[in-house]
Amino acid sequence: MNKIILTGDRPTGRLHLGHYVGSLKRRVELQNSGEFDKIYIMIADAQALTDNADNPEKVRQNIIEVALDYMACGIDPGRSTIFIQSQIAELCELTFYYLNLVTVSRLQRNPTVKNEIQMRNFEASIPVGFFTYPISQASDITAFKATVVPVGEDQKPMLEQTNEIVRKFNSIYGQTLIEPQILLPDNQACLRLPGTDGKAKMSKSLGNCIYLSDSADQVRKKVMGMYTDPGHIKVSDPGKIEGNTVFTYLDAFCKPEDFRKYLPEYANLDELKAHYQRGGLGDVKVKRFLESILQEELEPIRMRRKELEQDIEGIYRILEQGCEVARKAAAQTLGEVRAAMKINYFSDRELIAEQARRYRTDK
Ligand code: ATP
Ligand code: MG
Repeated sequence: MNKIILTGDRPTGRLHLGHYVGSLKRRVELQNSGEFDKIYIMIADAQALTDNADNPEKVRQNIIEVALDYMACGIDPGRSTIFIQSQIAELCELTFYYLNLVTVSRLQRNPTVKNEIQMRNFEASIPVGFFTYPISQASDITAFKATVVPVGEDQKPMLEQTNEIVRKFNSIYGQTLIEPQILLPDNQACLRLPGTDGKAKMSKSLGNCIYLSDSADQVRKKVMGMYTDPGHIKVSDPGKIEGNTVFTYLDAFCKPEDFRKYLPEYANLDELKAHYQRGGLGDVKVKRFLESILQEELEPIRMRRKELEQDIEGIYRILEQGCEVARKAAAQTLGEVRAAMKINYFSDRELIAEQARRYRTDK
């Protein structure tokens, strides 16, 4: 069986550190490992429209931002197919058939969707498209016969929903679709990176993000303003590590060699944490350390982005070519799905011959 990756992001803003540690960095590593036969990276504009129907311009404008962020991080269009969801009509048709395999109560139980409905104050007026987006996501994944889906933890319920649809489809219509595996970050802190405000998740919709394209100055300001331990007022006070965003980010980004480079008086992160908990270590010092680490990681991304920004037409051409490639793959799967469901009337010679026979003998 081919090893195939599908993953993507909603073009609702530029990509941020949460995307980077939750999925993007891993994608680049997987791409460069050469272990995969195909890698599809989808800009999920149609999904973004499910909760931005009244603001299509936002989605439209952010497609290029997401594409620039991808390529700045090292997604190589020569090795990965980057495409735009809405350009692949086949995905809508798949969704239409999958909708019949899922109950309303099953959708209502999806914890990520529940949470997002709350976040958006949708309680009384959930758009149907938004409510059913986990089903459309199952179409995206299965259309490309993805075996591996590298995403953040919030996507776990979507993968479970996808696998249920695959099993149901295969049991009714015969073995056709492939069950994908979720690939979560190994690092606990990267599963769901909190926002700079300490809120559970860094998210474009919450405005608590450090963007990959932020200037060095913006990154500095955001790090210096980060949520720490509100009880840690004087340097001499003992501080808490749990729920302290600066330490969560260090868990996510700090490498052993960073101490030698930027904070040689400590041997490792455990020593730094112990000092903070004991008291006598100020927030500013820890924040400066985090800032150095982040700047080192972000500077090359920023530089590559600046270069890529000089040829926007070229990026659109890459996206257009990616859509062509993706459409072919999705059309192949859709053909198989239609055949399995026996709705391929005109290519089913047997059906036509059988009906013709029936009518001939009737006469
Ligand atoms: P929106 O607010 O529009 O939903 P978002 O910031 O949640 O945007 P998505 O496009 O929904 O971003 O998510 C894209 C990918 O990034 C998914 O794989 C998701 O799991 C991952 N991701 C997003 N935010 C985080 C985070 N804070 N920590 C880890 N992974 C994340
Ligand atoms: Mg999201």
